[in-house]
Amino acid sequence: VIHRIAATILAAFALGAAPMAAAQSFDNVQIVTESVGPGVYMLTGQGGNLGLLVGQDGAVLIDDQFAPLTEKITAAVAKVSEKPVRFVINTHWHGDHTGGNENLGKAGAVIVAHGKVRERMSTEQVQALFNRTVPASPPAALPVVTFETGLTLHLNGNTLDVFHVEPAHTDGDSIIHFVEANAFHMGDTYVNGAYPIIDISSGGRLEGMIAAHDRILAMAKPDTKIMPGHGKLSNVAELRETRDMLVTVRDRVKTAIAAGKSADTLVAEKPLADLDEKWGKGFMNSERLVRILHADLSR
Ligand SMILES: [Zn+2]
Repeated sequence: VIHRIAATILAAFALGAAPMAAAQSFDNVQIVTESVGPGVYMLTGQGGNLGLLVGQDGAVLIDDQFAPLTEKITAAVAKVSEKPVRFVINTHWHGDHTGGNENLGKAGAVIVAHGKVRERMSTEQVQALFNRTVPASPPAALPVVTFETGLTLHLNGNTLDVFHVEPAHTDGDSIIHFVEANAFHMGDTYVNGAYPIIDISSGGRLEGMIAAHDRILAMAKPDTKIMPGHGKLSNVAELRETRDMLVTVRDRVKTAIAAGKSADTLVAEKPLADLDEKWGKGFMNSERLVRILHADLSR
C-alpha cells in the first residue's frame, strides 16, 4: 500500500521541479546564531534549524545540516563554546538534518538518534515527496547510540530529554526538551509559518504531527521557546496557531474523502484557498499538501 501511494504521488510530482532536490551551492551560506536561553542557541544556515547547548562539559548539537557546511557550523559553535561538539542528536534521518554526521562523527562527536534514523540511513530510501532516491549513508555517518522511546543527557548543568513521538514527519522523529533552559527543538514535526511536510514514504502521518503539537503544548509554559525544524524561532502562541491550522486541514480533507472525492477532484476544489495566503507560499503548496493528505488520510 505504501508503495502504491508513493507511486501515485511520484506521478503527480514527476513534472514539477522539487526545489529542495536542485543542485545546491553552499559557498554563500552564512550560519546565524540566535540566543534561546542560558547556554542554548538556535543556528540557521541552509537546511534544518540547528539547536545547540554549550558549557564546560562539551557542546551538544541538534542536527547538522549538510556536509559542506560542517566547517562553518563548527566555527559558529566555537564562537560561543570553548569545547568541541561532543554529541550530535538527529531529530530524523533527512539529509538536511544529518548531512554533517560523517564529518562530526570523524571529529569525535557521538551521534545519537532514534533507531529508525539509523535504519533508514543504512539503506537506500525513496522519497516520493521530493521525487528522489537517497543512497545509503557511509557507516561513519550513522548514529552510534540509538534508542526506541527516548534518553536523557545530563551535562553543562542542563537536562536534555530526547523523546520519540509517534509517526509524524517520519517514523523516526524525536523532540528535544531543554528542561532548565525552558525550550524545545521539535525537528520537522513543526515547521513555523508553512504547511506541514509529511514524508509518507518514510512513515510520516498528519495525525502524528497534530499529536506532536498537542504534546508540546501540554508540556510548555507560556514563555517556552520553540525551535522548529524550519522557519523562525518560535513560541507557544505560534505553535498553537499551527496546530489549529493542521486540525482544520485534516477535517476538510477527511470530510472530502468520506464523501468519496478523489485527490484530483479535491485539488480542483481548492479546499484550502482561505489558508494558502498564510501557509502555502513555500515548497509545500496547497496542491502538494492536499495530494499527500488525501493519500495519508485514506489509509
Ligand atoms: Zn525533514
